[in-house]
Amino acid sequence: MKKNGGARIWTLAFPSILDGLGPENVVAEVAAMRADELVICGQIYTGYRLVMPRHPDMIYQMEEGRHFHPVNKSLYAQTLIQPEETADFAGKDLIGQAIGAGRKAGVGIAVWLSLFANGRVAKTYPECAVENLYGNRDRLFLCFNNPHVRQYIFAWIEDVLRRYELSTLFLDKIPQTLLEARSLTGVVDPPLRVVGSLCFCPSCKRAAAADGLDLEAAHRRALEIGENSRRIHQWTKERLSDDLKGDTEVPLFLLEEKGIYDVLQWRLRKIAAFLDEVRGLKDTIAPRVKVGAALVPQVKVGHDATAPRAWLAAQSYKYFAPMLDSLHSVIHWDEHVVAYDAARARDSIRSSGAAPEFCVHLPAYGRTSPNDIAGLADTAVSAGADAVAFFCQDLMEPPMLDAIGQWANS
Ligand SMILES: [Zn+2]
Repeated sequence: MKKNGGARIWTLAFPSILDGLGPENVVAEVAAMRADELVICGQIYTGYRLVMPRHPDMIYQMEEGRHFHPVNKSLYAQTLIQPEETADFAGKDLIGQAIGAGRKAGVGIAVWLSLFANGRVAKTYPECAVENLYGNRDRLFLCFNNPHVRQYIFAWIEDVLRRYELSTLFLDKIPQTLLEARSLTGVVDPPLRVVGSLCFCPSCKRAAAADGLDLEAAHRRALEIGENSRRIHQWTKERLSDDLKGDTEVPLFLLEEKGIYDVLQWRLRKIAAFLDEVRGLKDTIAPRVKVGAALVPQVKVGHDATAPRAWLAAQSYKYFAPMLDSLHSVIHWDEHVVAYDAARARDSIRSSGAAPEFCVHLPAYGRTSPNDIAGLADTAVSAGADAVAFFCQDLMEPPMLDAIGQWANS
């Protein structure tokens, strides 16, 4: 019988821990925290360096943009973007072994796919990366309208669905085409951040024209907005950084700039349509597998280097909920932020009329201590979460594993 208010439990891990401790042992730890599903990273968009408290080799840097699982090259034969397999775990199928262990232990295994952010692909195939208003290609974010990017992603989805008996296909980085909140010169003002986060590549121009959206006109206006931003000194912006770090100017800006507002709306519709396409493909190959997706919080900035804002990252709980079985809000902050953002996410999902599982991701690393776990998890459940996910299994010290197990059994 489920305890802890009936909430389902998820946790996540990078494959290095499977290699270090052995998939059977990792899955046993996951089962001890009464987790229903373990999400294993299938590929990471940037080479994070990990310091892993329980791994025999504590310090490890991940391979950027390589598949942490064997790939079926024939599925990518028609695609420009070619997959690259892991060198660190060559000849091993860690995810496959984890699935075998999970079957015995009653733990579902999900694979986490980083969709529209991939440093390796963006650098190897610059024509597939986001093109900013000045015509420069990004080194990380991929254009979600680029046909090669979509072909590669659909081939990858088919590859993992045909290879593995997954519990959930777990989608991440949708799409977060964002200009950071800060640059070397200081704070980026909100109007520049808005237009600087849009893609104006030929694929987007074609897709927009087909949808009756004037992206050319929006591009011309974006360049004027860029020049207006340049006329305000960097030191002036920096002195106002407390006011400029939020979305202060953006409501009025969008009320006045309908062309830019239309582009933001169109992006949301394109991503919702993409998710629908993913569902269709999944249903033809593996109808029982669930589709999950991770979104940044609606209110607090996302935790990664770009400090993403949901609305600017083309993420909408309301728009995406109908396409998902499990919607994950990644709230790597304290209890009060969890209380606020989980409530907001829940309300948006309800307003969609759809009822996917709503899972709140909680931090179980860094400043979070084992004493914080019960409070964080209870707060998420009180705010309406059907499930909680603890991030992430490979970074947890033994007392953290114990604290999660205790909460799960309470
Ligand atoms: Zn584009």
